[in-house]
Amino acid sequence: MSVFNLKEQNANLDSKIVVGLERLSQVFRILLWEKAKQHRLSPIQIQLLIFIKHHSADKSTISYLAQEFNVTKPTISDAIKVLEQKKMIKKLADEVDTRSYTIQLTAAGKSIVSDTEHFVNPVTEIIVDFNLPEKLMLWQNITKLITQLHQSGAISVQRTCHYCKHFSTKNEAPYCRLLEQKLLPQDVRIDCAEFEVV
Ligand code: SF4
Repeated sequence: MSVFNLKEQNANLDSKIVVGLERLSQVFRILLWEKAKQHRLSPIQIQLLIFIKHHSADKSTISYLAQEFNVTKPTISDAIKVLEQKKMIKKLADEVDTRSYTIQLTAAGKSIVSDTEHFVNPVTEIIVDFNLPEKLMLWQNITKLITQLHQSGAISVQRTCHYCKHFSTKNEAPYCRLLEQKLLPQDVRIDCAEFEVV
């Protein structure tokens, strides 16, 4: 039976949780759409600009972006083409493989990011008022859900501690060998710049 069937949903906590998460995903979608409309861009174009700004050059390639956003390479290429026409990004050819390139933001692209990357603020403003135990419980459940969705193949790219070669244990507690620190639940990362695949 469908989780959207109200009789089933309201008699089943699992279904209510799934529908609640789906409702939350709508919030992010709507907030992003609002920003995209203001700048006459598509949501994926805004997401690409934000991602490129905050990640290293090796993650700013067509292949990586396609994996990251779970879409095809032609979809990313089309979005990048529009951003280039609008002079928001520039392509830097790979010195070895001249058919490949990395993507960099121009000043215009950076300005769009500054204007749009706070689209999540309505959610942030609620979260900051949660107390620490509430935040920790939420964070642990989010990381667990992301890890299991990655294992099932629903999330393709992972840069989290549990899949990183620097992840270890010390005195039976999670530990990062690179940062030389214990990983308390609040220290676990889902997008770490130092992440290296095992
Ligand atoms: S390098 Fe980053 S992802 Fe890897 S274990 Fe350390 S904190 Fe986690």
